Amino acid sequence: MAAPEQRRIIFQHIDAPGYSNDLACYVKHGGYEILKKAVAMPPAAIIDEVKKSGLRGRGGAGFGCGLKWSLVDRKSGKPIYLVVNADESEPGTFKDRYIIHQDPHQLIEGIMVTCWANNVKQAYIYIRGEMPHGARILEQAIAEARAANFVGPNILGTSYSCEIYVHRGAGAYICGEETGLIESLEGKRPYPRIKPPYFPAVLGLYQCPTIVNNVETLCHVKHIVDMGGDNYAKIGTPNNTGTRILCVSGHVQRPGYYEYEVGKITMGQLLNEVCGGPLPGRKFKAVIPGGSSSKILRFGETFTLKNKDGSSRTLTIEDIPMDFDTLAACGTMGGSGGVIVMDDSVNMVEALANLNAFYAHESCGQCTPCREGSLWMKKITTRMVHANARAEDGQLLKSVADQIAGRTVCAFGEACSWPTQSFVAKFGDEFKAYPETKKQSKNGDALELV
Ligand code: SF4
Repeated sequence: MAAPEQRRIIFQHIDAPGYSNDLACYVKHGGYEILKKAVAMPPAAIIDEVKKSGLRGRGGAGFGCGLKWSLVDRKSGKPIYLVVNADESEPGTFKDRYIIHQDPHQLIEGIMVTCWANNVKQAYIYIRGEMPHGARILEQAIAEARAANFVGPNILGTSYSCEIYVHRGAGAYICGEETGLIESLEGKRPYPRIKPPYFPAVLGLYQCPTIVNNVETLCHVKHIVDMGGDNYAKIGTPNNTGTRILCVSGHVQRPGYYEYEVGKITMGQLLNEVCGGPLPGRKFKAVIPGGSSSKILRFGETFTLKNKDGSSRTLTIEDIPMDFDTLAACGTMGGSGGVIVMDDSVNMVEALANLNAFYAHESCGQCTPCREGSLWMKKITTRMVHANARAEDGQLLKSVADQIAGRTVCAFGEACSWPTQSFVAKFGDEFKAYPETKKQSKNGDALELV
């Protein structure tokens, strides 16, 4: 079956000439009309529309956006904050920075609609340190929006006032985790907080109720207000509504950003038709479907899934619809939408060594299984690649990974374990054969082993 057409909601004007930093161009395309509509609506009605839409967060966890908003403690009398997670630190993910660079006002309008709906008077955009250009674009766009009375005191002539601040992080993966981000925003080391009690909806920024939403998620909010929650819910598939941006990188002929209705395109259609298939003379070997921490899939494997009527069906990787639920049923996740493709030129031990070096570097060090375990996994794969490898190293890696996941303060424990667990499970043959296939490096001793 041929791949469906892209359904561009977030990207509908993204390539319009002059769109990037230009408020006039954004307004010409209907920009801020939805904010005008929103401030004429009761805030609770907007929350209802978002709930009805079924929107799930586009940052990684896929948690229901309306549900997240409904958990906010509105009785404490404390201010409610909105924190925009623009840290986008998951390797293989590069959609939020594109939105920020190309269409910052879409994000600002989504933020203001969300603030109005949740009675937020101060919103913070936490953007990672390696994205200084994006931070400057946002500051400029907020200044433009403030001058036009879309942000700031008495927006659009109402009694409602709301400010947006841009906060630059220093570039740490763990600041993509919402409580680590909040700690960093408070000026502290980004140690993730223990949940409970520190659920941001109750005890977030400055110990006040806080909503943390991803950039793409907030852009969807304005379109939900525009078309209504019920209509939005008709896009995509049940429980996987709307569109999402898939960022494809690695060994395909046409890597890039593609926006599709959730679950309406399969992995095979995406990689073979939309992205042009493998590079000349190569075959697909593996794919990581939702950012580097999601579990890898091996081409050739099949998945038997249960249907609602009790029957079952068998899917190849190519058959998998790109939605949250099917990917989860196949043992991985849609995560951040970062699809990383590897062809048969990739050695999986070496690919895992790369990922393990990253995760060992990014562990915040707060809890022992993650701090020590991520380092041990890095040391083992580094030794395998640059010094001596043993046939049993795959099982050694697995035993370390198994003792991290589920025993840590935050989900980084899973994020750093899942690559090792899935690489060894899916490519155990390659790990066993590695000592034979890899000639011992004479430069191994020169490699830094922290
Ligand atoms: Fe830090 Fe890792 Fe513990 Fe998360 S799991 S708090 S990143 S040490």
